[in-house]
Parts: sequence; C-alpha cells; structure tokens
Amino acid sequence: MTYEAVIGLEIHAQLQTATKIFCGCSTAFGAPPNANVCPVCLGFPGVLPVLNRAAVDLAIKASLALGCRVNETSVFARKNYFYPDLPKGYQISQYEQPIASAGLVEFAGPDGPRRVQITRVHMEEDAGKSLHEGFADSDRKTYLDYNRAGTPLVEIVTEPDLRSASDAAAFFEHLRSMLVWLGVNDGNMEEGSLRCDANVSVRPVGTTTLGTKAEVKNLNSFRFLQKALEYEIERQIDVLHEGGRVKQETRLFDSATGHTVSMRSKEEAHDYRYFPDPDLPALIVGAARVDAVRASMPELPDARRRRFVAQYGLPDYDAAQLTQTRAMSEFFEAAVAAGAGPKAASNWMMGEMARLLKDGGKDINGSPVTPAQLAGLVALIDKGTISGAIAKGVFETMMATGRDADAIVAAEGLTQIDDEGQILGIIADVIAKNPDAVATYRSGKTATFGFLVGQAMKAAAGKANPKRVNELLKRALETA
Ligand code: ADP
Ligand code: ZN
Ligand code: MG
Repeated sequence: MTYEAVIGLEIHAQLQTATKIFCGCSTAFGAPPNANVCPVCLGFPGVLPVLNRAAVDLAIKASLALGCRVNETSVFARKNYFYPDLPKGYQISQYEQPIASAGLVEFAGPDGPRRVQITRVHMEEDAGKSLHEGFADSDRKTYLDYNRAGTPLVEIVTEPDLRSASDAAAFFEHLRSMLVWLGVNDGNMEEGSLRCDANVSVRPVGTTTLGTKAEVKNLNSFRFLQKALEYEIERQIDVLHEGGRVKQETRLFDSATGHTVSMRSKEEAHDYRYFPDPDLPALIVGAARVDAVRASMPELPDARRRRFVAQYGLPDYDAAQLTQTRAMSEFFEAAVAAGAGPKAASNWMMGEMARLLKDGGKDINGSPVTPAQLAGLVALIDKGTISGAIAKGVFETMMATGRDADAIVAAEGLTQIDDEGQILGIIADVIAKNPDAVATYRSGKTATFGFLVGQAMKAAAGKANPKRVNELLKRALETA
C-alpha cells in the first residue's frame, strides 16, 4: 500500500503596526522586559479594549492578497484558558465570524504550480512571553515579559490541500514573501513575527476520506516545517504499516533530533468556551473601505513578474529573481528608467551586485550604488568607453566607495583603447615577443590565437577594445 500526505497549515503573522491591537502600547521588538505595557494589555479589571484601525487595514490587505472575501461583519470572541503569559485569562480572537474567508493562493512548488485554498483569516492578539531558567526544582524560575501581549496578529488557515513537505515549505515561503512585500509583516521569523502550525495526516493513495491528523506546533523556519513534516509523514505511515492507528494529538518538533514528540492528546485538548467579547462591538467593514485598501496596495509579485517579461522582454528566470523582493524590483525599474538596458541592468543586479552585497552582509536597501549610478555604468559600456572586463573592476570600486562610474574611469585612466594605431602597436609588440606561438598559428594550428589575444589584452592592461584586438590580430597574423 502506498500512502499520500494531506497537509493544512495555520500561520500566525504579526501585523506591522506601531501600537498594539487594543491599546496604545508600542509593539517595538527588543525593549526591556515589561516596558511596553499598560492596564489594558495587562488585563486589569475594568479596562476596555479599543480596536486599532491600522491593524484592521493590514488584515484586509493580507486577506485581499490571499484572494479572500472580506466579511462585512466579523466578531471578536474570548478564547478562555489559563496561562501565566495571558493575564486576562482569555485571548481576544475571532471564531465563528472571521474577518475574511474563502481565498485561493497559487504558487510555484518545487515540482510545479500549486494551488491552496484559504479557509479563513482571523484577527487576534498575541500572548506574552515566558522565559524559563534552571532545571532542578530548587532553582527553577519563570520570568514573564508582557511586551508582546496584545500585539496584533492574523491567523491564516488553509484547507488541507498540500500533499508534500516540500510543497508546504514552498507555500510558507511564498506567503512570507507576499506578506513582507505588502508591508503587512516584517518576515522576521527568528523574532517570532511569523510562525506556523502544521496539520498532517496520511491516507492510501486513491482514497478521498481524510485520515486522523496530528498537529505540529510552532514551527518558525521553512526548514523546520519541512523537516517536521517529513518526519511526521514517515512516522504515521509506519504506524499504519504496523497495523496501528494514528492518534489525534498535538506534537512538538525537536530541531536537535529532527523528531516530533507528543505534547498532548485530543482528550487533553482545551475546551476554550468561546463567546463573543461583550466589550467589543461587531467589526463592520464596508465595501468602500475594502476598495480603499485595495487601491493602496502595491502591484503583487506575480503580476510584476509577468509584467517584467512582457514590458522589458526579460527571460522568465530574470523576472522571477528580480521580483523576489519589492525593493529589488523597484531598484531594477529605477535603473531602467535612468536609461539602463533591461537585460544589462538585470545581469548586473543578479551577478556582481548580488555577490558584492552578500559579501558585505548588506541587502539591496543598503546598496552603496544607486539605480542611476548603475545606469551610468551601463551607459559607459554601451558607448564603448570601457570594456565589460574593466567595468567589473569599476563596479567594485563603485560598491566600495559610492562614487559614479565616469568619475572612477576618469580618475583611474580606464578609458577603453579603440584607436587602431595604438592597438596595432600593441599587436606588433606581441607578435615580436611570441615567435613560437605565431609560427604555430601560421602553420595552421590556430589554437594559439586565444593565447595571443590574452597577451595583447594583458599588454593593454585590459583596456583595449577586445573586439578590435581580435580583428586586428587576426589580420596581422594572416597577412604578414
Ligand atoms: P481543529 O478542529 O483541530 O482545529 P480544523 O478543521 O479547524 O481542525 O483544521 C485546522 C487545520 O487542519 C486546517 O488547516 C485544516 O486544513 C487542517 N486539517 C483538518 N483536517 C485535516 C486532516 N485530516 N489532515 C490534515 N490536515 C487537516
Ligand atoms: Zn497596553
Ligand atoms: Mg479549528
């Protein structure tokens, strides 16, 4: 019997607002513990939550990008449970009436295009953070930091449409880049801004009923998601092969061993006793507001990728690379607007620029070279002022100093040698100094031609126009 995996994801994404969802406290990461708290996010008696408008707009943005219907009425509910990082004794979330439903996302999986339906998007507040210290009973301590309590989140729930660990990881990656592109989420997975719970079951290939699922909680990297799912799929198939039954349970991934371990079974699952929060009125989002949010959204990566192919004649590969981040796609268009040929701009960005940025530990936002400066370099090559080989060195200097290409070329005397007389002089010298290679060429073994070109370029310190050197050297060798 062969089995297939069935996977659905629940992704928590922090909304990039300046303040929390129900109070005015800052959401800045890295403040001293309990610096960003107030009676509302600490759950003092008698306080009242006030919904953050900016958080709602970001949730709408995410929902639209996921192809969802934004519901006119959604309701905040209390999800009741006790934990020290949840001082109110309940989390404000949405339950039966979420802000958005019924979306569809198309993305490129490692083995081809894939589609995942989105069940719903709901808004909620994050809990605080517990920090545990010590292992022995006598010195075990727990510290509580409520800075994160009340940070706005969206939870994105997918239908069980994914069929492999690698597709699930690719989907999560796609989602991250889309949310970052939109400015909805900062994409910082180490800081917990984006995390994923993976639900997975297996079933015999060809059947359609769902198997019993396990949920693996709190995966905060693409690799961990993939590894956890690979392990879990194997484990469940082994259980079935041995004639056993998969138990419905919540599991945790141990990144040290690559295994998932049981955390709690279905019987121990919470009954959250959801009910509408009496302190918050229903959230009404009219069509005009949805339209206004839609109008404020940037072109999405897929649309931009297709446009780059159509408008600039770029190969699919280039267009896909250049639209990996919004900043990169904007840099490219600015360089083209400043006069660079699209393919030339793309080649520089994907090649030398990417390499030097990486070496310098920078991303494109920190590039010392501006789009206009890149266009300036491309113009010097197009005009024949410098050769492609010299341009590489010039670009390195530009990246190191932020200076313009023509200033560097002038200061360092790098202008290309095009003058026929000058090039002929160099060639005569090379012919005189390499009689053996010349004789070999003239005897019909033309393989030494490349060597002689190399000698001429070397003698010209790389500045001679390589096309002219080729032509004139060939003529000199064949006519003498
Ligand atoms: P629960 O009631 O346990 O929260 P839901 O039906 O709300 O389960 O689904 C939660 C997530 O689990 C969704 O992403 C959904 O697609 C996924 N899911 C549900 N059933 C299965 C299953 N049998 N196998 C894999 N994933 C599933
Ligand atoms: Zn507060
Ligand atoms: Mg559920």
